[in-house]
Amino acid sequence: MENGTIVETRDLVKVYGDGAEVRALDGVNMRITQGEFVSVMGPSGSGKSTLLNMIGALDRPTDGQVLVNGRSLAKVRDLDTFRARTVGFIFQLHNLIPTLTSRENVEVPMRGQPMGKGHGKRRRRAEELLGLVGLADRMHHLPNQLSGGERQRVAIARSLANEPALVLADEPTGDLDSQSGAEVIALMHRLNHELGTTLIVVTHDPAVARRTDRILVMRDGRIVYEHVVGTPFEEDLAAFRRSGLGKAILAGDEAALARFGPDEQAALQRLLEGVA
Ligand code: ADP
Ligand code: MG
Repeated sequence: MENGTIVETRDLVKVYGDGAEVRALDGVNMRITQGEFVSVMGPSGSGKSTLLNMIGALDRPTDGQVLVNGRSLAKVRDLDTFRARTVGFIFQLHNLIPTLTSRENVEVPMRGQPMGKGHGKRRRRAEELLGLVGLADRMHHLPNQLSGGERQRVAIARSLANEPALVLADEPTGDLDSQSGAEVIALMHRLNHELGTTLIVVTHDPAVARRTDRILVMRDGRIVYEHVVGTPFEEDLAAFRRSGLGKAILAGDEAALARFGPDEQAALQRLLEGVA
């Protein structure tokens, strides 16, 4: 396994049912580097959730392998412990426990973890995480006293309870209005940058996908397309190359250049500053 790879799948196959079989995954090969923020897109039924479930060991593949940190999940004896220590999950429906406060919900995954004797340590950790997601003042609220976006942020705090190396998010903004969705994605970016958490997010929203490092597109249980999202500068540069001014410069066409006004010249200036 290559250095820095956190997740790898090899010819991963998942077949559901025994009568009318559904081949939900039909030979998926992929590799994700530590610290990457990857999005998975594709039509409904293309196998996105199944792929996440296999990577998070929520279910066993029919064939092929999932390796996390170089270790085949088929060889992990205690999958509950593996999940608790390595993976955080965020779902479209946050699955918070309605009778528990935000803080208590965040503490749930910490149960059974060797967190010292008392409850105090878990409580402090939950408070810290709620602070991280901007909900320090919603510690004692029940889920139904929170907005959709706030509930999803509690779910994110909960997913981080055990400092997972890998967070898997299945349409985390699917139920949210665009403002709350943008906040949730901004928060995931912060986790990625500040904590170095590797993130895999399933999304239908191209605006969300464009803000990740790499987009995997699935269809009929396979990854059919992969797109490495450029840096803003690379994207600007590509757009500039396609523009009239860019083409004129590349062609060395001075007569054409003379026709461009101050706005285009300013755009060129910005690009040149980006290079320096
Ligand atoms: P997506 O998340 O891309 O919408 P899924 O991974 O949920 O797709 O599903 C892929 C295919 O597998 C679909 O055809 C779906 O109906 C089927 N499927 C998913 N889960 C099950 C299950 N537990 N039992 C039977 N079929 C399933
Ligand atoms: Mg799904």
